[in-house]
Amino acid sequence: MYDVKSMKAEEFISDEEIRETLAYADENCENLELVDALLKKAEARKGLNHREASVLLACQDPERIQRMYRLAEQIKKDFYGNRIVMFAPLYLSDYCVNGCVYCPYHAGNRLIARKKLSQEEIRREVIALQDMGHKRLAIEAGEDPVNNPIEYILESIKTIYSIQHKNGAIRRVNVNIAATTVEDYRKLKEAGIGTYILFQETYHKESYEKLHPTGPKHNYAWHTEAMDRAMEGGIDDVGLGVLFGLEMYRYEFAGLLMHAEHLEAVHGVGPHTISVPRVKRAEGIDPSAFDNGISDDIFAKICALIRICVPYTGMIISTRESQAVREKVIRLGVSQISGASRTSVGGYAEEEPEDECSEQFDVSDKRTLDEVVRWLMDLGYIPSFCTACYREGRTGDRFMSLCKSGQIQNCCHPNALMTLKEYLMDYASAETREVGEKLIQAELANIPRERTREICAEHLKQIEEGQRDFRF
Ligand code: SAM
Repeated sequence: MYDVKSMKAEEFISDEEIRETLAYADENCENLELVDALLKKAEARKGLNHREASVLLACQDPERIQRMYRLAEQIKKDFYGNRIVMFAPLYLSDYCVNGCVYCPYHAGNRLIARKKLSQEEIRREVIALQDMGHKRLAIEAGEDPVNNPIEYILESIKTIYSIQHKNGAIRRVNVNIAATTVEDYRKLKEAGIGTYILFQETYHKESYEKLHPTGPKHNYAWHTEAMDRAMEGGIDDVGLGVLFGLEMYRYEFAGLLMHAEHLEAVHGVGPHTISVPRVKRAEGIDPSAFDNGISDDIFAKICALIRICVPYTGMIISTRESQAVREKVIRLGVSQISGASRTSVGGYAEEEPEDECSEQFDVSDKRTLDEVVRWLMDLGYIPSFCTACYREGRTGDRFMSLCKSGQIQNCCHPNALMTLKEYLMDYASAETREVGEKLIQAELANIPRERTREICAEHLKQIEEGQRDFRF
């Protein structure tokens, strides 16, 4: 039985409710009166529920789809302005006891080299990342209680935060590790993590169990209820995601929104971010073996609808996607992207020898961070290296109220300009710096509050004189 407030996975992600939702969407997708009413409702920027959203996803009317895109673009502009937050993944270890059939880290894969970074190797990776200009990382690890216990993850976080290199420091560490206990989540919170990210992979229980045939991840309820445990452990920024390609996308989309509705209903705060990865080729993994791959157009429609349906949730797109796809979906609502990512263990400090592959998936966007930053600016975006919110305690519902009050422009906007300025001073090429300086001057005028504008201008000058790490 469907119950949004239930703490049982099979009740808040009820298979019956998803099937009924899809049937309702099929019945109504050509009901243009209803579609128009839903679009009108969405214009109020209060979001749509999974049933309403599923009707829009099923709607094939080209004119209505264009309206969805335009609305997504507008909502993105209203809530997130033209800022794009930058991050990089850092792979700590590819040891894994699970059997996830789409992932090259699965325990039975003999084609990849198993590696686990020592604290010294982590230092080297972090210095390489800092030398590019990164300030925000997402750490990644396989699940292995012997090789990657929580103590290893905690020690690694401590190491990462402790490294001051030239003018740089990693200021936010997000964590993407397997579902764990409330006690472990509490430890992660105490270690000062930003967002806890865990992809559901698929919300379809039967497929989930087939795709995760062995290991602790096989347990659908344990995995699906992880965000509730994370929140119970005090982490209030959590990141959801579906690995598109594994199951029917309409099922996943409804499940994803139901999960967001559940978190909001139970904890009073929805997910901080939603990621939209698609299955990619990797050592021993052929993406065409999964027959639910989605086209770029459907992918764009999903991104636009996420933006419309959960306007206060950030959206993340990784280098799994090409430059062209990223360009298309950034416009439709993405707020965070990775740049210059290496998906191998130890890949930032040293190129991996060909016979020692540990890459989790093939990267499509292989550009340097400098190239990505310049590209974003050429498209009219402000690349932001800001990490202020969680350092100022603006997590969970406090971040959401900042978003809802429209104060982002007086807070995130100047923070974006100041962190971009740091990037330009410390890491950018001459061409990128020139483009960036012009952008900062033009964007300074877009800070609404006069006093904030003055303080920001002053801090920009101080950054030029060598000071760092200002924030609102
Ligand atoms: N082991 C942890 C877990 O179970 O959640 C950490 C996550 S893993 C390092 C990061 C994510 O990469 C997975 O959740 C999965 O969605 C994604 N992934 C795995 N194999 C992939 C592939 N072949 N292509 C694209 N993404 C993949």
